[in-house]
Order: sequence, then C-alpha cells, then structure tokens
Amino acid sequence: MRSVYLDNNATTRILPEVLEAMKPYFEERFGNASSIYSRGREAHAALKKARQSVAKLLGCESTEIVFTSGGTEGDNLAILGMMSPGNRIIASAIEHSAVLNCCSYLEKLGCEVTYLPVNRDGHIDPDDVRKALRTKAKLISVMLANNETGVLQPVEEVGKLAAEAGVCFHVDAVQAAGKVPIDVRRIGCDLLTISGHKMHAQQGTGALFIKRGTILKPLFHGGHQERGLRPGTENLPGIVGFGRACELALSGLADGSMERIGTWRDRFEAGLLKEIDAIGINGTDAPRVPNTSNIYFDYIGGEALVIALDEKGVAVSAGAACSAGAREPSHVMLAMGLGPERARASLRFSFGKQNSAEDVDYVLEVLPDSVQRLRNTSPLYKRSESKDVLLNHR
Ligand code: PLP
Repeated sequence: MRSVYLDNNATTRILPEVLEAMKPYFEERFGNASSIYSRGREAHAALKKARQSVAKLLGCESTEIVFTSGGTEGDNLAILGMMSPGNRIIASAIEHSAVLNCCSYLEKLGCEVTYLPVNRDGHIDPDDVRKALRTKAKLISVMLANNETGVLQPVEEVGKLAAEAGVCFHVDAVQAAGKVPIDVRRIGCDLLTISGHKMHAQQGTGALFIKRGTILKPLFHGGHQERGLRPGTENLPGIVGFGRACELALSGLADGSMERIGTWRDRFEAGLLKEIDAIGINGTDAPRVPNTSNIYFDYIGGEALVIALDEKGVAVSAGAACSAGAREPSHVMLAMGLGPERARASLRFSFGKQNSAEDVDYVLEVLPDSVQRLRNTSPLYKRSESKDVLLNHR
C-alpha cells in the first residue's frame, strides 16, 4: 500500500541535507560551545553559522536570534518574558495553544487579555486591533499563518498599528517559516517565533527573533548561553541542522518548490470539490500558505475519517496535533463561526516537500470512497439524500 504523509503542519520529515549537516556534531565534532579549547571554539563557530542562517531567513541580524527548543518555548519566552502582572495583552482568538495557554496563565497572574475575533475565513480585521489599542496594552500577539487553516494574517498592518501605539508586537510564525517569505522589518514586529520541526529540522529546535533593544525576562536561570536569555548547553547538532534547514527553506522559496506544492494543493481541492458533495474549504477566500488545506466533510466525524484514511496509508489530522484526541471541536473552527458538527467534520491536509504529484492522485482516488463509506453509516446523511434535512451547520 502507498504511504502518503499529508500532516506536514504537525511535523515534517528531516531533509537528508539537514541530517548530513548534523551528523559530524554527534561524532567527531561533538563539543561544548562554551569550552575555550579548539573543540569548543569549533562548536561555537558552528552555532554562529547557524545563527546567521536563521537571521538570513528572517531578515534580521544574527545578534537578534535566540535558539530555543521550539515554537512553544519561543512563544512562552516572548509572551511571559515581556508581560508582568497588571499588564494587558491582545491576542487573536485563533492562536496556537502555545500562545493561548500563556494568555490563560497570565490572566491568573492578574493580567488582562483581549481576544481578537476572526471572520468566517479565519482572518482578523486590523480595525479590531485599532479598537483594542484604544486601551493601554503591553503586547500584541498575532500568528502569521494559522496551523489549522493556513490562513495568513495581516501582520504588516498590525505591525504598523503596534508601532504607532508604542506597543510591543509578537508574531508566531511557526507555520509560515519556509512556506512564505518572512521579513521581520517589513512586518514591523519586535518578537517572532519559529520552530525547526515544522521546516524539516529536528524536533526540539527553534528560534525567537528579539529585536535589538527589546527587553525580555528569561524563563530559565543558569549560565550565560544565548546572552542569558536561554541558559543551558546548546543543542549543537540540532541547531546546526536547524541552520541548514533555514538555508534550504530560503532556497525553496526562491526555486519554485512552494509554488509546486501550492499547485498540488489547488488541484487536490478542485478534485475533491468535483467528486464529493457536502464539503467545503475552510478559509478559502483568505490568503493562505500554499501547503495547507482544511476541508469539512459534512455528516462525518473528522476522527473517523482520519482512521479510515490511515487504513489506506494516508496520514492527515483532525484539528491541531496538540489537541488531537481532545473531544472538543477546534477553537479555530468555532471562532470562524462553524457549528460544532461541521468543526468536528473538518480535516487538515498539509503537503510538504517530500510529497509528489502521485501522492495527490492517490488521495484523490481513495478519499471519495472513504467519505462515502462513512456517510453510508450516517442516518443524517441518508435523510439529507431524501431532502428532508436542511443543512444549516454554520
Ligand atoms: N505555534 C504554532 C502556530 C504551531 O503550529 C505550533 C505547533 O504545532 C507551535 C506554536 C508549537 O511549536 P512546537 O511544536 O515547536 O513547540
């Protein structure tokens, strides 16, 4: 049976070039970057090179990059490092739990949180940011690309509003890095999070861009590594691989790889819309990253379809990986105005560099049958066929 991985927003397979770059740092080039002898200096130089590669991807100085263990830590360092009890934060309602759960934690510490709504395409309105800024705030946190829908948020407009109001701006760009160009100066953000394992590097790697002059409190206390902002011996092989992944991400944005992925995604969506009734694309009218497709299949439980597709060798997800298994419908879908049933009937397909046009053909071949089989067991679907059920899921 063919094996097709369409869950690249959950995690990505490491690229051979990344693994190749990492290998010597597990073997002959192992070392602690803080050691003053040559092995340590070599390790230090490798970190420096990786830092430059990350900075190049984001359009900043390498001194503005702090290595972290991934997106969750980057978001926590940005938000908890900036906020103090009594401060106010403005965040979109569709942020990843790495941001939303920081906000809930801050509420318990006596901070105020204002959540920005989204429209039916999962897009925030900069006017809502403008309104929210009428009251004093310390920080705005808006993601660049949503992990479930791939919808791109108007971060440059938010950046301008934040700068005018003198409010610090954090962007969670975990799902955008490598998929769309990122330029922190254009965005006008002070803080921006990325994660290695979403862009073909090792799990447990990542970086936070911290604009020069921005003061953060560290989450950990220890040595002087990462200017004391992220103490602890650096994950040398992981960081080297992450640096290489950033170089490859940059070349992938220039060599048409992402356009190719976008073509597969569009062909996939058009094929499904043609073959299957009572489905729709969540976020279809908003700008999206090229690799993500979020589709509702009415009359089906999303998790049942995930299992049915798994039996055909296809890996996809219902909701975010971190909330998979949670019975609650996705907060992103609910914020977009989907009813709980349609939210539960929504699946995320996320393509990646290691997919092929044949993968798309295969999924287009097996998916309609899996959907039909599940619908055949749904009394509601049978009634809808006899036209006595009005579809009103929104
Ligand atoms: N932010 C977004 C938008 C994500 O999609 C994820 C992971 O799914 C994270 C943050 C957390 O990243 P990590 O898994 O590297 O901790």
